[in-house]
Amino acid sequence: MLLDEHHLPWADAWTLCQGVFSYTNHTLMHEALETWPVEVLGRVLPRHLQIIFDINAHFLTQLTQQHGPDIDLMRRVSLIDETGERRVRMAYLAVLASHSVNGVSALHSELMQQSIFADFASLWPRRFNNKTNGITPRRWLAMANPALSSVLDARIGRDWRRDLSGLSALQPHLDDPALIAAISQAKKVNKQRLAAWLQQNMAISVSTEALFDVQVKRIHEYKRQLLNVLHVVTRYLRILEQPGAVTVPRVVIFSGKAASAYHMAKLIIQLINDVAKTVNADTRVADLLKVVFVPNYSVSLAELIIPAADLSEQISTAGTEASGTGNMKFALNGALTIGTLDGANVELQANVGAENIFIFGNTTAEVAAIRAAGYQPRAILSRKTELQRVLEAIRDGRFSPEEPGRYKAIYDVLVNWGDQYLLLADYSSYIAAQERVDALYRTPDAWTRKALRNVAGMGPFSSDRTIAEYARDIWHVQPMTIAG
Ligand SMILES: *Cc1c(COP(=O)(O)O)cnc(C)c1O
Repeated sequence: MLLDEHHLPWADAWTLCQGVFSYTNHTLMHEALETWPVEVLGRVLPRHLQIIFDINAHFLTQLTQQHGPDIDLMRRVSLIDETGERRVRMAYLAVLASHSVNGVSALHSELMQQSIFADFASLWPRRFNNKTNGITPRRWLAMANPALSSVLDARIGRDWRRDLSGLSALQPHLDDPALIAAISQAKKVNKQRLAAWLQQNMAISVSTEALFDVQVKRIHEYKRQLLNVLHVVTRYLRILEQPGAVTVPRVVIFSGKAASAYHMAKLIIQLINDVAKTVNADTRVADLLKVVFVPNYSVSLAELIIPAADLSEQISTAGTEASGTGNMKFALNGALTIGTLDGANVELQANVGAENIFIFGNTTAEVAAIRAAGYQPRAILSRKTELQRVLEAIRDGRFSPEEPGRYKAIYDVLVNWGDQYLLLADYSSYIAAQERVDALYRTPDAWTRKALRNVAGMGPFSSDRTIAEYARDIWHVQPMTIAG
């Protein structure tokens, strides 16, 4: 438009574009970084393709003027990927055309500059910055959780709704037995609300005395719902085979949608449903374990489920989750997190204190080292281990007797096809962390004190803080006072 309709000179049009555009990257997952075939663009949007070529020519010319002829660098940063079928690298176009490029958590912004945009980050270090995601306290606390909201209002007033950093006013009250009792009672009310919904809508009875262990989010292999299933099956086999080994009753709740063509994600949903069917029908298990898959996950369901959670599952492979916001919703609603050092979990730990969160698993650096050394999932297994028995139960049809081979592909991705997301490498650390969870839950007051410390540390995770940082650092706009 600037060139062809308003007839601006190239340099002026480009300066305007860079002033207007800023790019927020939301994932490092390779398949989400789009590249478009030059051939398709040339057919569908020929003028756009010409302009992309011109942008690239200006960029590569300037690069050569400033850094000399470095063919390797030019190949790496070019907007056109010339390996195989020529394709336009859309993310590079966004970096080039923007005055600001940001990631959505401290870890993600670091990794972004070390991996996919490393060359651009060396060329233009000041263009890159971080804006850690946040959540709105109006929806995710005031509306979703009236029980906890009343407790907070009575103790620190109502102003946390517009300034969540006010939650730090809880700090002097963290050991107050009356407050701890009130927080615990609010959780009970929310668990009863969810239990009634599950009874009404799914005809499932759950005990509100049980620990509510919740993983709700899109179904994706990197988020590792399967690792959670491995724990559930471990727990099931322990209940059956080692009487007295499991003493804390749990309700393990899953919800989430899969992309329609994502076969493995759909299979994981089916496995969760089959495990639920088997476990819930097994009278030997009684109230020690219930498994629930809530269909049709949505924000409305999130508002019902999250306030009722005792435990928040944030267990992605380190280095894969850009930020996560579910992690923030749970902690703000007084759940404890079991999680990896991934995305905003890192900053969650920094704000609530390492003693108030269950961290497990390989770190991003350790994941990279394991992969660099040539990860061999089968080397972790030996016939006798509990993990092997869990995997064989899934493989051999224990949860799908009507079709024993239904989950062979799940065994294969983990054992024979490389375990891309390192579930087996993190399994023992995850099970050990779940045992720490059980131990703490046996001391309800100690549990609730940690939950309260989580709530008190959540001030920085308001989307109001996030948006104020975008306004100040990227959009360069001032807040405006509205009269009245
Ligand atoms: C918050 C939210 C998400 C994001 O959850 P993550 O755990 O961060 O992936 C997804 N879906 C719904 C409905 C949500 O409310």
